[in-house]
Amino acid sequence: MDTRTPDPQPHPAAHQVSRFAQSLKARGFRSWYERQLIISHGFMVTGLLCVVALAAWIEESRQHAALSDQLIGFAFAALGGWFGLQCLREYRRSLITAEFVSGQASCPTCETYGRLTVLEAEGEHAVRVRCKHCAHEWRIEDTPQPANTAD
Ligand SMILES: [Zn+2]
Repeated sequence: MDTRTPDPQPHPAAHQVSRFAQSLKARGFRSWYERQLIISHGFMVTGLLCVVALAAWIEESRQHAALSDQLIGFAFAALGGWFGLQCLREYRRSLITAEFVSGQASCPTCETYGRLTVLEAEGEHAVRVRCKHCAHEWRIEDTPQPANTAD
């Protein structure tokens, strides 16, 4: 007879909670960092293209008098402007994450940069890592913690 208790249901956000750890573990720190930079700059280019398209629409719309054309153009411009802003926000967010994680990738003991093994997820936004050079273990977070001003 099987007396083991059934595995507890995973937390609804469990897969998302450890996405940082999974991604870091699957790729290794260096290619995770590279990928993060490529993605963030992809967002930046897309956001800037939206801004250029918006400027082109403003220039173009001055030459057409038909109100219906202008309304359709305005709808596209508003959508493009919103999308461009989202891209630039995402660019900022992913770049901050990449730089924040990168700033913790040096071993506190031997100062070797980026040569680490990801051991396990620690909570929502952190991983425990081990230096490949001296085997020191430390914790890397993906989001800056709010400053503790209680004391
Ligand atoms: Zn080390």
